[in-house]
Amino acid sequence: TGLIGAFLTLLMSDLIEDHYHKSVIDPLTGVYNRRFFEEKVLKVLGFTQKSQHGIIMVDIDDFKDINDTFGHAVGDEVLVKFAKIVSKIVRDSDIVTRFGGEEFVILQASASITETQKLAERLCDEVSKCSIETQAGNLTITASFGVSSLSAPDQLESSLKMADDAMYGAKEGGKNSVVVRDP
Ligand code: GH3
Ligand code: MG
Ligand code: MG
Repeated sequence: TGLIGAFLTLLMSDLIEDHYHKSVIDPLTGVYNRRFFEEKVLKVLGFTQKSQHGIIMVDIDDFKDINDTFGHAVGDEVLVKFAKIVSKIVRDSDIVTRFGGEEFVILQASASITETQKLAERLCDEVSKCSIETQAGNLTITASFGVSSLSAPDQLESSLKMADDAMYGAKEGGKNSVVVRDP
């Protein structure tokens, strides 16, 4: 029974892990989903008296045109590749979330607003330089970035709003750029 018990425990923990994974990961891109962001992100991020984390709101520019021109499947390929580019650049301690259709949020753990701005500028640059392989050929895209920061868990919502406002500022300023809103 010892062996069977151990086997069952393993099987159970596998099932639980699989269930947890499915509940917090976006199936298309493999990054965290919005549910994770809303329910779990603060626990993973962690806060002390001195904590400051960066927040980046990203929205792919003119994504509707990609769908309209090449079809939804190609749009999906672009989303997958975009998430890969971003995930490759950020650190392991940073948290990448697909927030909605072509909108992503990145939390940069333990970072000043200047460091977060630098990260956003690097991401903006790399995304625009990347040639994305799709079934419709190689495509290039750009994205707009809004940067803010938070230093306490209860600031998550307001910081997200600030990053969102900043991102809209980048859209209004002509897209493919980074706007910072320092709280
Ligand atoms: P902007 O530069 O102002 O952000 O323009 P946009 O075209 O990127 O923004 P808009 O909000 O007009 O269009 C977003 C499009 O994203 C519309 C929607 O059909 C598409 N979309 C949302 N989710 C998915 C998805 O999972 N896959 C694909 N292929 N398209 C998606
Ligand atoms: Mg867009
Ligand atoms: Mg959008």
